[in-house]
Amino acid sequence: MTQIGASSPLASAKRVVVKIGSALVADNGQARQDWLDRLASDIAFRRSTGQEVVLVSSGAIALGRGLLSADRPRKLEEKQAAAALGQPLLMAALGQAFAPHNICVAQSLLTLDDTETRRRWLNARATLETLLAAGALPVINENDSVATDEIRYGDNDRLAARVAQMISADVLILLSDIDGLYSSDPRTDSDAVHIPELTELNEAHDAMAGDSNIASDVGSGGMRTKLAAARIAWSAGCATAITIGDRQKPLQALLDGDKATWIIPALTPDKARESWLRGHLTPEGSVIVDAGAARALLSGSSLLPVGVSSVEGRFPRGAAVAVKSPDGVTIAKGVTAYSSDDIERIAGLQTDAVEATLGYRGRPAIVHRDDLVLEG
Ligand code: GLU
Repeated sequence: MTQIGASSPLASAKRVVVKIGSALVADNGQARQDWLDRLASDIAFRRSTGQEVVLVSSGAIALGRGLLSADRPRKLEEKQAAAALGQPLLMAALGQAFAPHNICVAQSLLTLDDTETRRRWLNARATLETLLAAGALPVINENDSVATDEIRYGDNDRLAARVAQMISADVLILLSDIDGLYSSDPRTDSDAVHIPELTELNEAHDAMAGDSNIASDVGSGGMRTKLAAARIAWSAGCATAITIGDRQKPLQALLDGDKATWIIPALTPDKARESWLRGHLTPEGSVIVDAGAARALLSGSSLLPVGVSSVEGRFPRGAAVAVKSPDGVTIAKGVTAYSSDDIERIAGLQTDAVEATLGYRGRPAIVHRDDLVLEG
């Protein structure tokens, strides 16, 4: 078992996703500004050590519902309206909290499709990468005002895990009102034992989590959804911490070894992504590259339009493709940022000539190196 504490996965993480639940963000329809201010200085400190942080924040419905005449929104459309009213209040409160640290907050509202459909996932990821590179703090929530049941994540724990997976985060921190997983419900069983660390998750752990929601009525996650989120993160090579958010500095507390449950994955995010690409991609067509591009790919570069000579098959943007050398041998597999029709038009072009040919500015690479796995 790894020693959590000084060697907390948070200490060495490069990219961290922090999820905060509604009960932390809002109380009686008002933002908990003091707590948000403290969280902001906690996050600002992590960033000052070189870590990248993405915040997934609930609380839109909790902040907006007081502005609706219905005192407790129950119908879906009431919740959606409350979210539309509360989301700007949430961003305003976060903007106020981060302003003293000169950190700009950037709102990103996602629906299930943005992480489950590869074509859209490429877009959402590129936006988040660009925001991080610009030094902004991406603040993510579900796009509740348009997401109906069939296109909803439903809870921000899973949304946060999908985001962590999408951007290859090393650590996901789920801040809530419980300090982790217990062998049984600690509210009703005085013999319940806290579990500090797990290296896998199975049905026995789900059974320990029960299905009740310990949080108040404003959020939708309980321990079950936290474990579901941790499982998604685990398969993406991302460690998850489940812990109490209502502390002076919850991230620092986690680093100092305060009570939490850590779920530690077997692989790093890079290895997990590589194994996912290897196992899950069935090519819908091929891109034939020239000898120079083939060499560049083998040494870890992305596939640029200039290196492509031709295309085989018809496929949309976001499809899996085989990348073949001039003699027809498959050298890599990857996810394409362009459709076969567009690749035909831009094959052999320098990247800065792509926009004039296609009439839109696409991605610099046809297959980004993060979406590429070499054969063999
Ligand atoms: N997206 C919802 C909100 O902002 C919260 C969902 C959740 O609690 O997990 O109010």
